Amino acid sequence: MKQKHTTPRKEQPVSSRENSDASSTKENKTESGFFKRLLIFCLIAAILLGCFAGALFYLDENGKLESIRAQFSSTRSGKGKTGDYYLESDEKAKSRKNTSGSTGTNETRETKDYSDTERETLTLPDDGDDGDLCGYTIILDAGHGGRDTGCVFPFNNPQYNECDFNLRIAQRVKEELESRGATVYLLRNDDSWVSLYSRIAQTHLICLDIAESQGILPFSSSRADELRALLQESVDINEDSVASGGMGLMVGSGVGEDLEELFEMEYQLDHVLFLSIHLNSHEARRLHGTQIFYVTDESVIESERHLAKTNADFQRSDFPKREEYYGRHNDDNELLACCLYDNIVGNIPDFSTNATPVCADNYAVLREHGLTGALIEVAYLSDDNDREMLLQDSVVDEVASSVGDGVKMYFLQRGI
Ligand SMILES: [Zn+2]
Repeated sequence: MKQKHTTPRKEQPVSSRENSDASSTKENKTESGFFKRLLIFCLIAAILLGCFAGALFYLDENGKLESIRAQFSSTRSGKGKTGDYYLESDEKAKSRKNTSGSTGTNETRETKDYSDTERETLTLPDDGDDGDLCGYTIILDAGHGGRDTGCVFPFNNPQYNECDFNLRIAQRVKEELESRGATVYLLRNDDSWVSLYSRIAQTHLICLDIAESQGILPFSSSRADELRALLQESVDINEDSVASGGMGLMVGSGVGEDLEELFEMEYQLDHVLFLSIHLNSHEARRLHGTQIFYVTDESVIESERHLAKTNADFQRSDFPKREEYYGRHNDDNELLACCLYDNIVGNIPDFSTNATPVCADNYAVLREHGLTGALIEVAYLSDDNDREMLLQDSVVDEVASSVGDGVKMYFLQRGI
């Protein structure tokens, strides 16, 4: 093989190179400086791009990939549906662990939002009508209390308990609604333990009295007395576990015959609403603002299908497993939730949430009666701005008047 012949290039000593061609060396230096700057620029651009991409997508605490853009778009979309994601609150996570949980959600699946994306915002003009709620009745539930504080803050050294805020807000809402002419029943009026099923039993008892006084009982008064006795047992037992018997005629999945009779009666009481007042909490402290929950047949059924496979209560012989129940006034519940959210956030823009504003779920305090109802998570105790605002009387006053406006808007929309 013929060797390729090349003339060896004569190497010059470095000093000679430097001296012999100063201008070429200058050019080389300029070139090498340019490439260095280009390299640094590229590196910085790559780092910035990485940060930007990282900000758009991140892993949440459950390792699920979520998009910040999705959260922001949910805030901007405002009221109602927020897309196909759901950010779970700590309170819900807590109640999932304990199925007789403090909020009574009895729920383990992901919550879905059934509200309408494109609906109109529902707010009342400020007409200052003091008697605009005359003839309406509101059953108000101040969540938690006594041995059940609800969520707390700070998490490891609690200084604030949800139950105290709930009571203060509920009492203020009661004053507001009464000042506008409504009849109000408050299910907890001090810092005492009241079981969830006792609250619901009390609600049925109030409804029995209202229906009887209006002469619209769908059964005999002796049957009403039988139901009263069963309900009073739940009030007296004042416990939520299946074993305690406190669930009474509300125990089990689906809707039992006694409960269905009460539902049918309560469906007629369209001038009576049920509102439960709570605060929310989020361990990562990312979430803030108001959220309103309601129930639908679909949200309850979907949850109970899941619980049937995962929840120990469903395996008990004294826990009746019934057919799936259809008959709730789903649209009314959703409408009430939307009216409440729109009026609260309309009056207090800081409470516009970055979580799901309005969504269907499986809360016991909404599931086990036939009244149109909503659970108001007024704000996040874990969020600094939300908490500071809730400590101000003027904000609590605004929440109360907004709830009044939301209730009024619901009745106006229903034409009741
Ligand atoms: Zn709560």
